[in-house]
Amino acid sequence: MMEKLSAKEFDENYSRIIEKINLALEKSGREKDEVTLLAATKTVDVDTINYCIEKGINYIGENRVQEMLSKYEEISPVHHHFIGHLQTNKVKDIIDKVELIHSVHSLKLAKEISKQAQKIDKKMDILLEVNIGLEESKSGFLPDEIKEAVDQISKLENISLKGLMAIPPICENSEDNRKYFKKMYNLFVDIASQKLDNSSMEILSMGMSDDFDIAIEEGATLIRVGTALFGKRVYN
Ligand SMILES: *Cc1c(COP(=O)(O)O)cnc(C)c1O
Repeated sequence: MMEKLSAKEFDENYSRIIEKINLALEKSGREKDEVTLLAATKTVDVDTINYCIEKGINYIGENRVQEMLSKYEEISPVHHHFIGHLQTNKVKDIIDKVELIHSVHSLKLAKEISKQAQKIDKKMDILLEVNIGLEESKSGFLPDEIKEAVDQISKLENISLKGLMAIPPICENSEDNRKYFKKMYNLFVDIASQKLDNSSMEILSMGMSDDFDIAIEEGATLIRVGTALFGKRVYN
């Protein structure tokens, strides 16, 4: 599925990322434990994922339901997150397996999550995805829809709203995304200040391989890293 990655290459990639995380934290005057590194494991084989867990990464995220299910049983117990586009009819397949769904992009999806969570007597932690670059091709709430969405979704019985997530536009220079990370942070703080029941703004999920350092400087609490850890993917 992916180009073969040696343990040594992984170890080197991982140390480089840790260094970069620490530098960004230091640069922005933040504490070491303020950022969670999640390994985005799409296309990565189970052995590599388990190796990465052994090395100390205990948050992993898949973005396709089928792929997640096919690997799930063989992966060491850790924090499993769902980070990709989720269709309403697939919610029931992952509801008992994941700890956090990052990518809730509509009220309809949130309602289905609450409904399925209720069936198994669970309160599901979610983030709302924000289409921060106002891109036609992307799902997620628009920035000016987000407050209304938070208001409605935080009322759903079996959901606990934990924060926001964004995938900014693809750009040539990662510095170009700084403005989107800033906007996300402002939304995050703004919503947190409303102190709504059933919602707490604890997690700001933003930053990937090319720009996680900038995201950290702008306030990310969770970064989702694939390529920089595992090498280039053959597809997607
Ligand atoms: C693949 C993926 C990532 C990681 O992307 P890289 O650029 O490989 O680090 C992060 N978030 C989501 C939602 C993804 O699908």
